[in-house]
Amino acid sequence: MLILACTYLYTGLIIIPHILTFPGVFSDTGLLGAGNQSAVWLWVFWHGGFPIGIIAYLLVDQLDRQEDPPQRVIPLAAGMVTVTILIVLLWYVLSTMGNDWLPAIIEKNNYSILLTSGVGAVVWLLNCSAFILLIWLRRGKNVLTLWLTVAVFAFLLDVTVTLFAGARYSLGWYTARLNSLVAATVVICSIIYEVNKLYIRLVKQHVQLVESQDELRSANEKLTKLSNLDGLTGIPNRRRFDEMLARELHESAGKNSPLSLLMLDIDCFKTYNDHYGHLGGDAVLKRVALIIEDSLTGTTGIAARYGGEEFAVILPRLDVEHTQRIGERIRAAVEAEQILHKASIVGNFITVSIGAFTMLPAQNTEFEEMVAFADQALYSSKSDGRNRVTAFDQLLNR
Ligand code: GH3
Ligand code: MG
Ligand code: MG
Repeated sequence: MLILACTYLYTGLIIIPHILTFPGVFSDTGLLGAGNQSAVWLWVFWHGGFPIGIIAYLLVDQLDRQEDPPQRVIPLAAGMVTVTILIVLLWYVLSTMGNDWLPAIIEKNNYSILLTSGVGAVVWLLNCSAFILLIWLRRGKNVLTLWLTVAVFAFLLDVTVTLFAGARYSLGWYTARLNSLVAATVVICSIIYEVNKLYIRLVKQHVQLVESQDELRSANEKLTKLSNLDGLTGIPNRRRFDEMLARELHESAGKNSPLSLLMLDIDCFKTYNDHYGHLGGDAVLKRVALIIEDSLTGTTGIAARYGGEEFAVILPRLDVEHTQRIGERIRAAVEAEQILHKASIVGNFITVSIGAFTMLPAQNTEFEEMVAFADQALYSSKSDGRNRVTAFDQLLNR
């Protein structure tokens, strides 16, 4: 691609001395020390150099296709651009200073010697070779090569028509100038078109990427939520309970405020399952979870399913009496629901036993101790006949 770019740079640059030295454009004899042969020789270098560049591009591309792109692109590009500029300068110097000893190929405006001397034939053959090679190797495989083929063909036409026109300012000569214009612009336009298409694709893909990132984020959020909830009851699960209790313990210690824990266990649940089946038991677990959550509205309490038919409630910033009152509220609410349990040794309905523990400010209770103390209170509720709330403090008093 660098060779192709330099070929275009070459034609773009060599036009400058060509037009400046062209007699009758800016002055009668041409500028920049032009001789009568300067412009025509620059035309030869221009129309001979372009196909050489195209051939070099095709051959290098053919040989290099499998290899990795060169590592040092910028020094390579700088070097090749410099060489291109130097070649153009060399041709300019040669065609102006060497005007007298370069073979004469134009007389007045008639350049038929260009053809008869063989110089024109070489230029034509170079263009023809570039055109044939381009078709042979590429056959217009992509938009760039397709338009490059058009450009090289226009160049070949330009040379052909110019050579056969034989004189400046003839119809053929003007047609050839028009061809030059096509040859020069068509590839640039196709590259702009291609780059534009690439950008559109890039933007579309970027939008897709952002969208899929958003989807991924919301899927992750859903997943986190799900992994924190109990599948049966929909309230926080044991994993989440552990996290919350640890966090509340940390915060209570920092703020020097009390922290309470209730452990709840459904009474005679094994016999409920035996009597009403496990699906019936599941329904009771869901209803009890709902009752606990309802009883906690307006409080700081957070309920979780601790495991099996056991629930836990974390109550930040509540003293012993307040905690016991909320425990009592839950117990009474479950009983008031009157879920029939014929096999219960407590009564005719589902009941819960509750154990409560309150960590007082500056008491620095450990996580495991919190659970163990609330558990001890719960067992005490069980052994005292179930369907009751026991505070750990009461055990100490006893
Ligand atoms: P206690 O009054 O002493 O608590 O007696 P209990 O029968 O409730 O206690 P136990 O620990 O012996 O039995 C708990 C039962 O809870 C046993 C188990 O089958 C049942 N269970 C645990 N998880 C589930 C569940 O997800 N669904 C159902 N249906 N039953 C469960
Ligand atoms: Mg149990
Ligand atoms: Mg039980």
